Amino acid sequence: MIQLSRLTRLLCLTPLLLWSLNAAAMQLPDESKVPGGIVVIPLTGQNSASAPSAWYKGNRLMVLPSKGTRYEAESHWIAVAGIPLSAKPSEKQHVRANATSYYFEIDNKEYKAQYLTVKNKRHVDPDPEDVKRWRREKAKMVAAYKSWSEPASPVTRFELPAKGPYSSPFGLRRFFNKQPRNPHSGLDIAAPHGDPITAPAAGVVVDTGDYFFNGNTVIIDHGFGLTTMYCHMSKIDVQIGDKVSTGTRLGAIGKTGRVTGPHLHWSVSLNNTRVDPILFLNN
Ligand code: ZN
Repeated sequence: MIQLSRLTRLLCLTPLLLWSLNAAAMQLPDESKVPGGIVVIPLTGQNSASAPSAWYKGNRLMVLPSKGTRYEAESHWIAVAGIPLSAKPSEKQHVRANATSYYFEIDNKEYKAQYLTVKNKRHVDPDPEDVKRWRREKAKMVAAYKSWSEPASPVTRFELPAKGPYSSPFGLRRFFNKQPRNPHSGLDIAAPHGDPITAPAAGVVVDTGDYFFNGNTVIIDHGFGLTTMYCHMSKIDVQIGDKVSTGTRLGAIGKTGRVTGPHLHWSVSLNNTRVDPILFLNN
């Protein structure tokens, strides 16, 4: 009888054990070779002991050892690149590492259109002072997107930073008060005003601010060109330079900036390119 129950326990534990072993291996973002997606390039022929630097459209790329990934047999190093929403499937894309070019093709993706009505007309037709302000803020944000650090454990997957339904997916072609504007560069999570927003992985806070369109904003550098941004917050609880780990409170859900209601606008940037956050989510 005792023997039988031990066996049952062992059988019950086996799937859990296997699962935790799998989770320990490096899990890359989901590959999706479309505008706004992710491509993984095996850097064949690059065999140096230290990571080669690789570039795509003028931005430095995340380069990781291939060990433990499905590219292990193909190459020693892999580049993980974000593909801009503006990339054209008709053009051949290429990544450069040392003197070698690596070409790849992308597929088309038809993102849906979204029509929004915004009460504050200046958020649709900003006056010249607003435009000046937005340009200044944009430069500050791009500097944060371009942060480069090399943590010992590269971050390649995220937990969700807030609890709530997705109210607006990444990539929507957007119209504010019927006028076309930039496509949606993040994922919106609807949640009540004041609910916590938490770090999706380890990183360092590289920017905070109260921005014209984005409202109260936090940007985290996760290393190797991967950054995340949190917008429209009612409250910011971190400062530039703060180290965060998965679950660290960053602040609270709000409706500051250009919004139609309280939500988190969460954007993920890789090689200074906004990509679909869904591709990085843990199950
Ligand atoms: Zn949004």
